[in-house]
Amino acid sequence: MRETDVLVVGAGAAGIAAARALGQAGLRCQVLEARARPGGRAATDTATLGAPFDLGATWLHAAGRNPLRPLAEALGMAPFDHGSARESVCFDAGRRVGPEDMAAYDATWEGFHARLAALTPQPGESAAALAARAGFGPGRWDATVMHWEGPVICATPLAGMDARDYLDTLLERPDLLLPEGAGTLLARLAQGLPIACGAVVERLDWSGPRVVAEGPFGRLEAAAAIVTVPTAVLAAGAIRFTPELPPDTAQAIHDLPLGLLTKIGLRAAGADRLDLPPFAGIERRVEREEEAALTAIAWPFGHDHLMGFVGGPAAWELAGAGPEATVDFALAELAKNFGARAAAALRRDGALVSDWARDPFSRGAYSHARPGRATARGILAAPLAGGRLCFAGEACHSSLAATLGGAWETGEAAAAHAIRSLRDKEPQPLTPALAWRYAAPATDAPPLTGTTDER
Ligand SMILES: Cc1cc2nc3c(=O)[nH]c(=O)nc-3n(C[C@H](O)[C@H](O)[C@H](O)COP(=O)(O)OP(=O)(O)OC[C@H]3O[C@@H](n4cnc5c(N)ncnc54)[C@H](O)[C@@H]3O)c2cc1C
Repeated sequence: MRETDVLVVGAGAAGIAAARALGQAGLRCQVLEARARPGGRAATDTATLGAPFDLGATWLHAAGRNPLRPLAEALGMAPFDHGSARESVCFDAGRRVGPEDMAAYDATWEGFHARLAALTPQPGESAAALAARAGFGPGRWDATVMHWEGPVICATPLAGMDARDYLDTLLERPDLLLPEGAGTLLARLAQGLPIACGAVVERLDWSGPRVVAEGPFGRLEAAAAIVTVPTAVLAAGAIRFTPELPPDTAQAIHDLPLGLLTKIGLRAAGADRLDLPPFAGIERRVEREEEAALTAIAWPFGHDHLMGFVGGPAAWELAGAGPEATVDFALAELAKNFGARAAAALRRDGALVSDWARDPFSRGAYSHARPGRATARGILAAPLAGGRLCFAGEACHSSLAATLGGAWETGEAAAAHAIRSLRDKEPQPLTPALAWRYAAPATDAPPLTGTTDER
């Protein structure tokens, strides 16, 4: 196809949602996807571990408002409330933490969001500075909770992210797991859509009345374009825009770098299940937020593998060292908790390690706003040229950022802008609900440096 109504760059959650919305509105669209598969940062491996393993997105967070929950259920999938089975097993210097100390850990956790949310972030304040103002730092469990909140959950240390954005994008429970995998859900939602895989967009010309995409696939022309490519890929200059993007938009892209979360699947070697029930969380106490540590979930759905996570600076370092070093790291971490039993219980061969850092079509895991840049998400989501060029994707969502559900909603919002731009030639004013998100441009913008968190 050389001509269509709307072209969509990228077939992740945002691109799939946009394509579905455009199709439902009766418009022609073409999705250009660089990889050989749709789904983007949601991909389920079903071959390596003998059971589904999500290399990227795993949970449907904030399920009460997650648009993917009803879609999964409509496809006959049965999302499972992880909270109903979650039991944490925490170790400190090789010993399992006892009930009293565990209660102190839980209390620190429970107070963290509430105590930070009770404060008003100062302009430019980082989440780490806000946590310090809330009194976190010296307590016995403070670094462990901050390690979870920063490098593991947000994929970057609290010092690197804006306090306002951190509070705005907190995710409430329930967190649902899909037995078939979140990547499987996305693959099923993509079925039947006009997606061209292996189509890398290198140039996007939006100078004329038509938008033109070019790459090794050739040339595709449309009345409007929706770009859902991760911010780190855009910041690296993978797509050349003609004319260049407005300075506010270009700045917003650089203000929303991707942190890194790496997932590791380790298979049981025999019958030993380390005395852990399915879904047990394996953690250890850390002394510093940025300490390299592994967290893991044991035997999800009773399968014979552990699902491990390492995030933030340690994940970038391991990505550079390679998958074998990452598996060694994971086994060494588990040995800290279980001693020699870990090496006997888990196989070193046949492990699965995600590689979102070196993947040229992601260059990281998911976005956070740099300190002082909380408005960047709204700026990036603001339609350009009366809706003829729109950005969408997880980085554009004001509250569900870094999630599948957030990406999905921004895809639908961008499709609505594109539809309006096609139907009304005059640009429409923003609805009040959207206007507040797009209101405040970044004023003290730093120079365009650094494309990701990568050190
Ligand atoms: C390890 C990890 C764990 C996560 N855990 C969760 C979780 O539990 N729950 C959750 O909700 N979210 C989670 N996320 C985040 C979630 O995966 C993302 O928020 C979501 O998938 C982003 O969707 P998107 O459409 O914005 O971007 P993407 O999924 O990245 O889609 C963008 C698409 O653009 C394509 N592309 C890139 N460059 C080009 C180009 N030049 N031309 C054409 N196509 C291009 C890419 O190949 C990709 O398919 C996790 C992510 C990772 C990496």
